[in-house]
Amino acid sequence: MKVYPPLYLMGRKINCWRCDAKTSVVGILAPAVDYPEEFKDPEYPDDEEEPLIFVSIDHIPATILSFIQALVPGYKLQDSRTAGHEYYGNSCRACGALIGDHYIHSEPGGAFFPTNAEEAQRIYLTEIPLLEADEISAELSIGRGGLILDNAQRVVRKLE
Ligand SMILES: [Zn+2]
Repeated sequence: MKVYPPLYLMGRKINCWRCDAKTSVVGILAPAVDYPEEFKDPEYPDDEEEPLIFVSIDHIPATILSFIQALVPGYKLQDSRTAGHEYYGNSCRACGALIGDHYIHSEPGGAFFPTNAEEAQRIYLTEIPLLEADEISAELSIGRGGLILDNAQRVVRKLE
């Protein structure tokens, strides 16, 4: 689907589920997406302004990928047995374990699943350089983008 600037990289440090080392995980937040009808959430039928989070990304423009990897080298194409397909996701910088999108995006209290403003404040947000509309192929997570956008800490420094 088409994404338009601005596009944000969300970052957080978490403890690896396997080796307990501190590691950075990232995700992509998009306030402006031209998304297909089937992605629209029945809970938000009229709210096309709701910022979205991309999960299970299977295509990402090379410029965006290199921007992310310069900050967080562990972000790469992962073979997920849980998801049953490859997608761009996070891995632990210490042991290399996959830190699945489900783990950070889909469970309340997870890295990118804040349930209140205080949890959202632990997320860092930096703008991804994007000069014009580009294509990303992914699933969408709807409903927490606004909370994150309103409360996360804006940074211009490196995430890692
Ligand atoms: Zn680890």
